[in-house]
Amino acid sequence: MRPAAFDLSGRTALVTGANTGIGQAIAVALAEAGAGVVALGRSGMDETAELVASHGAPFRAVSADLATLEPVARVMAEAAELSGRVDILVNNAGIIRRADALDFTEADWDAVMDVNLKSAFFLSQAAARAMLADNAGGKIINIASLLSFQGGIRVASYTAAKSGLAGLTRLLACEWAAKGINVNAIAPGYVATNNTQALREDPNRNAAILGRIPAGAWGQPADIGGAAVFLASRAADYVHGITLPVDGGWLAR
Ligand code: NAP
Repeated sequence: MRPAAFDLSGRTALVTGANTGIGQAIAVALAEAGAGVVALGRSGMDETAELVASHGAPFRAVSADLATLEPVARVMAEAAELSGRVDILVNNAGIIRRADALDFTEADWDAVMDVNLKSAFFLSQAAARAMLADNAGGKIINIASLLSFQGGIRVASYTAAKSGLAGLTRLLACEWAAKGINVNAIAPGYVATNNTQALREDPNRNAAILGRIPAGAWGQPADIGGAAVFLASRAADYVHGITLPVDGGWLAR
């Protein structure tokens, strides 16, 4: 039996970038806690559909490219078809571009800001409007980064976007907390996904990163699921505007 405060039965979660990595793991964790899942992305969702179904949770895939705002209204409408409303939005979709700041291009700046920050804001706006329409509130969870707290190197637009996302999380919490919407973020540490493949394949960077993580290991996508369930649940009803690190102790160092 699930602890009542963490039980998501009857809720519907819209998770962006849910075909792989952290987004997929969050979708599965929310399903395991009882939520129906709307998996949004630009790639096939078959694997996620199977994993969610293994927990007996309702599932729907919505195809959309969040590089522009064009799909936002359609996505919210299609997501609402699963159960009538979206109770939980997880803004997870994200990309990273690496280059020295001196060489960083406008294209790499815009691409990252558009997916990681602009789409997250306008999806949150659309979700909040719908959540407020029936006064039932909701939960919005943004997937931030250690680079919401730190500078990093060679990832100028990513650091700007993830630092912006932490700020946006605080702003939206301030505007919507009293209206029954909890807006919070999770800052994953170094997690083994496509996003970090280049780092793991570089022996020097890999060793340097591993050597600095107190837990002594890369995070796995499933490590992020519990924090998402918590922030999506009634257990987090009085939690607003935080960016919760799940980082193997990285920030403690
Ligand atoms: P990932 O495996 O590369 O997953 C990124 C997800 O975002 C994929 O589902 C991807 O879809 C989707 N996406 C990218 N651009 C999109 C677009 N234009 N429209 C719709 N979906 C799009 O990497 P991940 O590590 O799981 O990343 C998930 C989130 O965690 C990101 O926001 C990332 O910044 C953040 N994060 C990751 C780490 C880490 O160490 N891995 C640490 C901190 C934060 P496709 O498969 O179709 O590209």
